[in-house]
Amino acid sequence: MKRSFLAFACALAVSGQAAAQPTQSRTAELLRDIIRLDTSNPPGREGQVGDLLAARLRPLGFEITQVPTPEAGKSHFIARLKGDGSKRPVLLAAHADVVGVEREKWTVDPFAGVVKDGHVYGRGAIDFKGGMAVFARAVMQLAENKVPLSRDVIFLVEADEEAAQYNTSWLARDHWDEIDAEFALNEGGWIIKDDTGKVQYVSISTADKSSVAVIVTGKGTSTHSSMPRPDSAIFTLARALTKLSTYDFPLQFTPASRQFFTTLAKTSPPPMSGYFRDVIGTDPSAAARADREISKDPLLHALLRNTIAPVLLNGGFRSNVIPGSADATINVRIIPGTDPNDVVKELSRVIDDPNVMVRLQNPSAGPSRTPASPEDNELYRALAQQASRTFDGAEVTPYLFQAGTDAGAWRSRGIPVYGIYPYPITADELTRMHGNDEKVSIESLDRGTEMIYNTLVEVAAKR
Ligand SMILES: [Zn+2]
Repeated sequence: MKRSFLAFACALAVSGQAAAQPTQSRTAELLRDIIRLDTSNPPGREGQVGDLLAARLRPLGFEITQVPTPEAGKSHFIARLKGDGSKRPVLLAAHADVVGVEREKWTVDPFAGVVKDGHVYGRGAIDFKGGMAVFARAVMQLAENKVPLSRDVIFLVEADEEAAQYNTSWLARDHWDEIDAEFALNEGGWIIKDDTGKVQYVSISTADKSSVAVIVTGKGTSTHSSMPRPDSAIFTLARALTKLSTYDFPLQFTPASRQFFTTLAKTSPPPMSGYFRDVIGTDPSAAARADREISKDPLLHALLRNTIAPVLLNGGFRSNVIPGSADATINVRIIPGTDPNDVVKELSRVIDDPNVMVRLQNPSAGPSRTPASPEDNELYRALAQQASRTFDGAEVTPYLFQAGTDAGAWRSRGIPVYGIYPYPITADELTRMHGNDEKVSIESLDRGTEMIYNTLVEVAAKR
């Protein structure tokens, strides 16, 4: 979800002098300290976050494991607070790495942990060091309050979520026993608040879209560029891409995304409330009109369908040769249950040209067999109930996450994972994620910590 925020490009740089300001919030203070450890990936150097957390969690009675990867400075951190073992563990996962910054476009130092105007600023404030601080403070409170536990509570801080190879799937291959759980929380859904500060709704992701690479190849005669022929591979590919540029996959809903749009219909003002109702309704022309309005928002557009995005072009090798072929790589983000082979068939139909070949980059890719995590589950119910309780009866809905997360390591093994960015944020704050002047409000961090702590008490405290 990379967006830039050019309005800040000319803003004045004020570096970390405000950082010493006391926050009265232990979650905000922890977040400030973690933001100060620059874990831009590459290279990540996530081990420094593990070292900081180990020093704070070990004295509280957590068993600490730091799993090194083959890359120096890059490790996963696992903290386990023991229960009596009568139930299987609950796990909370947060990635320690962040994406890089366009430093000149920030008004504060992105790695100073600046605290001002009731917010913590810095790269990762939302994605996902804020979530890491909330999860960490919630599990620390369990230990500080000596809550007797019926199950282990595992807090995992991951490497390589934003980039590279030593990610959670890598960890799960050799260290599964250490991260095996009955269910888990990680990043995903949103707690969206309006400009007055009121929470509009809470979404909890129960599944992620997945990513498929499709190669579109235009073919022609390879020859001397002084004698062009009508069958140019590059022109042929260009015509195919032009057709794709005006094509949208049809509306496609999962039970979770249908419920999400129902919630938006309930919690949005007109005319959007009507469009949200129509898009899941039975009148095709009303749905098409609603789709046009809703899809002006790229996030909602992506939740309604499989999306296509050209990402790489490759054609030709010298200026006096017309190449015999030219390729485009199309990144297709598919709704769970979609067969990638059907995507290829549909794109071939749209392009409709015998000189264009459409194929999967990975021919063995099949439909995802990973089921959505069920809503009929103790952890989902507890989180939904605590979210509603914490945020004045806000509507809670399951959610199909528009991108991929590391939830796959558990979901693919049948372990339910529920995704949430555990703090209320505004639409403006959301655009700063992976962008500039990323920030989260201290009040949001505190309310989020309360919500996650109470959720953990609900699922893991002995009764
Ligand atoms: Zn993230």
